[in-house]
Amino acid sequence: MRLVIFDALRMGILKDGQVYDVSDIVGARAGEWPPVFWVKAIANFGQLRPRIEAAVSKGKGRPLESVHLRAPVLFPSKVIAAPVNYKLHMQEMGVSDPIDQFGVFLKAPSSIIGPGETIRLPYLDRRTDYEAEVGLVVGKTAKDVKAADALGYIFGYTCVMDITVRGKEDRSTRKSFDTFTPVGPVLVTADEIPDSQNIEFKLWLNGALKQHANTSDMFWGMAKLVEYASSVMTLYPGDLVSTGTPQGVGPIKPGDEVTIEVERIGRMSVTVEAK
Ligand code: MN
Repeated sequence: MRLVIFDALRMGILKDGQVYDVSDIVGARAGEWPPVFWVKAIANFGQLRPRIEAAVSKGKGRPLESVHLRAPVLFPSKVIAAPVNYKLHMQEMGVSDPIDQFGVFLKAPSSIIGPGETIRLPYLDRRTDYEAEVGLVVGKTAKDVKAADALGYIFGYTCVMDITVRGKEDRSTRKSFDTFTPVGPVLVTADEIPDSQNIEFKLWLNGALKQHANTSDMFWGMAKLVEYASSVMTLYPGDLVSTGTPQGVGPIKPGDEVTIEVERIGRMSVTVEAK
């Protein structure tokens, strides 16, 4: 299933170009803040799924074009991200060690924006880069999960950009500015992704292809990332893990348009402006 969040935080399922509103089934109330309905929907999705499927098969959809898509990940308890998880990116950054020497880092959940929104650059005199990544969303509470079991804890996948100011501050600072984590356009349940270690993804800057890679090139795959992250911290339903960027990163400036596309998930564009 392809989950979307739209308008004033309604939850829907996207099928054949139509959005089916399942807000009532998941208990989403208009204007609810914080939008914890989404975390509960992810946590209880197995239970809710038959009613959601019935709503899609019997209900009346609306054309995708008629809704305003928002980030399909709301109020995660944390956003975990993977540094140096692709060999050619390690080389382009002049770094000699991969992820196993760094572990994972955190990005502020408040940095999430959705499709069509705007990345706001805090410093115009500092290099700030796009990074295309595949994101996984945790479906079940996970602590000390073994890699062999880890895929069972993954709810689904989405497109993520890990926007980054280059420099000496800690990664958590340089990557946590408001608007620095575009996510979307949909969250696709794991059963629709036959092999998450074989997903092709691309990023374009102003229409020019800049990144093109496959998750098969990750140093630490999805399962290892979940194993490692859950050895450090308890993962909760709705937590987002961004799995690292491949080669081809580069700077953005006001006026740019950045587009990401992940196979089987979708495509999303955001714009760039000064803060
Ligand atoms: Mn990254």
